[in-house]
Amino acid sequence: MLKKMIWIAAIGLLLLLAVLTVRTLSFSPVATTPVTPVTLNVDVATVSQHLSEAIRFQTISYDNSAKRDVAKFRQFIQWVQQTYPLLQQQLELTPVNELTLLYRWKGQDSTKAAVLLSAHYDVVPVTPGTEKLWQQAPFSGAIADGFVWGRGAMDDKGAAVSMLEAITLLLQQGFQPPHDVYLALTHDEEIGSSEGAAAVSALLQQRKVNLAWSLDEGSFVLRQMVPGVAADVASINVAEKGFLNLQLTVQSPGGHSSMPPAQTAVSILALALTRLTDQPVAGGIDGLTADFYDQLGPHMAWLQRMLLANRWLFGPLLEHELSKIPTANAMLRTTTAPTMLTGSIKANVLPQQASAIVNFRLHPRDSIDAVLAHATQVIADPRVELSVVQGMAASRVSDKQAAGFARISEAAQRAYAAPAGTAATDLIVVSGLTIGGTDSRMYEAVAKDSYRFNPMLLTSAELGGFHGNNERISQDNLHKAVLFYHTLLGSL
Ligand SMILES: [Zn+2]
Repeated sequence: MLKKMIWIAAIGLLLLLAVLTVRTLSFSPVATTPVTPVTLNVDVATVSQHLSEAIRFQTISYDNSAKRDVAKFRQFIQWVQQTYPLLQQQLELTPVNELTLLYRWKGQDSTKAAVLLSAHYDVVPVTPGTEKLWQQAPFSGAIADGFVWGRGAMDDKGAAVSMLEAITLLLQQGFQPPHDVYLALTHDEEIGSSEGAAAVSALLQQRKVNLAWSLDEGSFVLRQMVPGVAADVASINVAEKGFLNLQLTVQSPGGHSSMPPAQTAVSILALALTRLTDQPVAGGIDGLTADFYDQLGPHMAWLQRMLLANRWLFGPLLEHELSKIPTANAMLRTTTAPTMLTGSIKANVLPQQASAIVNFRLHPRDSIDAVLAHATQVIADPRVELSVVQGMAASRVSDKQAAGFARISEAAQRAYAAPAGTAATDLIVVSGLTIGGTDSRMYEAVAKDSYRFNPMLLTSAELGGFHGNNERISQDNLHKAVLFYHTLLGSL
């Protein structure tokens, strides 16, 4: 009897191993046809010079938009018009508002669906006192060591300048797109897009423009940023997260702290916050997150590949492990971050009110109402009042099977196939999720699909420059970006 059971167990184990192995082996990269590298002469020195000039305009967005130095924004717009005269002559400049530019490039057939390229030219401030930590002054636009330095180099003036350069090159070649192409340069992305991209979207709707897709910032070509994947990953993001700022407030009678009740407003609030972080919103590898791992998994080492190929068995383990990595966790679920806190005004005064703000980043599967219901249920304490301070739903999920995605993907692969002076790079293209906010969510109303991707190669060294110190873009990246936009627009 025992022998029989051992036999059954052994056969079962062998069958399981066979299933795991077969599934892992069949979870392999899809064979792709090699792409043709782009052959195009790009005057990288001039492009760098132009970006350097663009960085010197301090087009800073402050949370308080009244602090905006409008003159600097006007000077930037003037500079665009003077530096790119061919766009000025051959494209139609559509007045949106004083500070956002929208060009219409008339195509051969304007009745066909158009496309929109968008970049923002406002930048975040440099934190006072950190200027000396920069190797080059933040608004110098210095060109040194193969980089163009300064606030906005990667986010997002590098893309704006590369788009302007690529269109200029195409105009010089006498190219006319098959359908209309719009180019938006917006001025308030860093403070919510309510004037720039929102106005572009409203104007296009009013004109009944039909956009097949829009392309804006949102991800990059990631080098050694995806754990377990050695090759470069172009993440063309098909959605972006929303957010919810939830205020938690606890009232209590107050009084002298020498005779405290068992719980003060602060301790009741602290308990609520702990419950929220201990019981995060449920997440999982499904929908676009499953797509993301299905595309990356085949390029991973055997163990990770086996786990991802056999999610029917290892799903819960994988989700548990991925939840521990902040970047991976952000892909899995709506995240919970308590960020602001107030209590009593003095050490020996019991608080009459304690409050906190929790910043949730909404995964496309969760609505604002659903997260509010989750918070109420998890806190389970009527003494804690919840109120929504601000919120924005996550975006729609755009179609990764649509023609626009394929065009963007091919242009990225061709631009990276063999840019002059560098070795060819193998590029894995995946559809991902942008975990911050961009102008793109404003374009949903007018574009069938919205994609989020900048064609620059990003390493962890450059990542720190985003809204931080030493923001810079390599001249090689500028080169690739011009190749990308030229290829994309030239092959519409
Ligand atoms: Zn940006």
